[in-house]
Amino acid sequence: MDKNPINSNEFRKFRLLDKIPVASNVNLYRFQLNGADQTLNLPIGAHIRVRANLNGEDTERSYSPIAYGVHGHFDLYIKHYPQNPSPLCFSNYLNTLIPGKDSLEMKGPYSLFPYQPNQYKKIGMLAGGSGITPMWQILNFVRQNIQNDSTEFFIIYANKTEEDIMLKKELDALAQTYPKQIHIFYTLEHIPVNNTSYGQGYITKEVIQQHMNISAEECKNNECIILVLHNKSKAYTEF
Ligand SMILES: Cc1cc2nc3c(=O)[nH]c(=O)nc-3n(C[C@H](O)[C@H](O)[C@H](O)COP(=O)(O)OP(=O)(O)OC[C@H]3O[C@@H](n4cnc5c(N)ncnc54)[C@H](O)[C@@H]3O)c2cc1C
Repeated sequence: MDKNPINSNEFRKFRLLDKIPVASNVNLYRFQLNGADQTLNLPIGAHIRVRANLNGEDTERSYSPIAYGVHGHFDLYIKHYPQNPSPLCFSNYLNTLIPGKDSLEMKGPYSLFPYQPNQYKKIGMLAGGSGITPMWQILNFVRQNIQNDSTEFFIIYANKTEEDIMLKKELDALAQTYPKQIHIFYTLEHIPVNNTSYGQGYITKEVIQQHMNISAEECKNNECIILVLHNKSKAYTEF
């Protein structure tokens, strides 16, 4: 048995310790590691695959653990969709799991964008809904290592309503603490009355031009990269 708790060749079971609501239809799921000293030990920007038998079918989905270097457990932020009636809706199944009793099969890690500090001058992030979790994983790592990382981030994050915004408190705190390095713009389908801070509607070319100080030239020269992930993506897109 290798010393990493998770392995990409085989599914292993992890016990659910806790389930905490953190936003509208979003839970933090805390899973147990084998010892109080153990960490999940994933590369930055990696995700895992989670499997369950739903309605007689082995069903898998990708999720992004959200913190690094935590001992004894790891956390997933997962949005569920109560209005989705499909028995194969994985996140609705997760919402039925009982902390302290149920376990879940997982394997990994898988890296779509292995983040390296200072590899790019600027990184743009376009995220929708739960697509913020892989982005937050990178940002959370940057926060812990900011003295050695001068990458500038432009994040545009789209949601249906204000209540749907995942990790808002954490994202706002990051942007307020490092205003020269971390820039965040939220856009909503339904803006609150007396709104002063959110954009309205989808992420358009105009929104990107206005809130992402990254030129085509900089991307061509490999100085910058733009990552895209929304809740219907199968993987990161880069452009
Ligand atoms: C690299 C990567 C990392 C990811 N990390 C995370 C993460 O950390 N957290 C997270 O939450 N997700 C994450 N995802 C997304 C995750 O993998 C799943 O796609 C997500 O949980 C949805 O799967 P599901 O089976 O629950 O829902 P699905 O069955 O795929 O459907 C979800 C969709 O249901 C729609 N819907 C479908 N039918 C109906 C209906 N009849 N009525 C109304 N609405 C309907 C909803 O609008 C929504 O778009 C990640 C994806 C990738 C690729």
